[in-house]
Amino acid sequence: MSPAKTVKDYIRTIVDFPHEGILFRDVTTLFADPRGFRMCVDQLLAPYVGVRIDKVVGLEARGFILGGAVAHQLSTGFVPIRKKGKLPGQTISQAYTLEYGEAVVEVHEDSMQPGETVLLVDDLLATGGTAEAGIKLIERLGARVAGCAFVVDLPDLGGRKRLETMGMDVHALCA
Ligand code: IMP
Repeated sequence: MSPAKTVKDYIRTIVDFPHEGILFRDVTTLFADPRGFRMCVDQLLAPYVGVRIDKVVGLEARGFILGGAVAHQLSTGFVPIRKKGKLPGQTISQAYTLEYGEAVVEVHEDSMQPGETVLLVDDLLATGGTAEAGIKLIERLGARVAGCAFVVDLPDLGGRKRLETMGMDVHALCA
């Protein structure tokens, strides 16, 4: 009998996407598989069962798919952090540095209340720049980040260290 598949087994790697030299971890194959997707969502939320979580915050775009499922399972609300210009209400913005240039993410200013406890969810942690911008937005609204959950952590790119230095609890399913 072959060993049971792990979350990592469902993730496909695409060579040279979006640029030459990049090995892109494609989680759409994980999401498309009923066992894989359930296993992934169950494992992402496992450390937070019984922990006070008021909101799950998902980072655009794959963090929406994961965060929505996690929020449903934890019976919390869901809040999207989106790229600049996509949210219709009053927002606050946070800029962060990319390999080439800068990006801006936004959140609705009334989406979290001071004192609320939040779980941040995304598919992949690389340099940690995107997650750090999300954490800053959450903290600027007065909420507290109880954990940051990712399917994939690429430790060589330093994201985990960066978030842990900020005092964050980082949970990832595979490297
Ligand atoms: P970071 O800001 O450098 O940590 O990059 C993480 C962000 O880029 C996340 O929102 C990911 O969705 C995205 N990302 C970077 N590399 C990959 C990849 O190989 N597969 C899927 N998403 C990626």
